[in-house]
Amino acid sequence: MIGKIINLKKIQKIVENQRDLIATKLARLRSEDPFLIEDRSLIVEPGTDASILSGHERIVVLENRLKSDLKEIESALKKIKKGTYGKCEKCNRKIDIKRLEVKPEAVYCLKCENEIEAKKGNK
Ligand SMILES: [Zn+2]
Repeated sequence: MIGKIINLKKIQKIVENQRDLIATKLARLRSEDPFLIEDRSLIVEPGTDASILSGHERIVVLENRLKSDLKEIESALKKIKKGTYGKCEKCNRKIDIKRLEVKPEAVYCLKCENEIEAKKGNK
């Protein structure tokens, strides 16, 4: 039979690597956040506040994006362990293998993800 079989071990590795990468990125982001840098006495120039604020906001946006990626990755890992990997969390249908190859941490099928994204965009 010619067909693609999902190599779970391999996928787990890829997804775990992604998780580590995001965790590293998150840690780096936090270290760059001017709000969280302890020694704020260094900042004395007037007018600096606005740039700190925008710097902080930029980081929050990036951080939220990373956090939601991380959540998806964690739940993909859980599914690998539970043996339900490759099934859509929403409609329970199988996720296209081609999609999983591109995005191994996907927990929704393309259709459901599009629906979720559309909802997000309508806010
Ligand atoms: Zn679905």
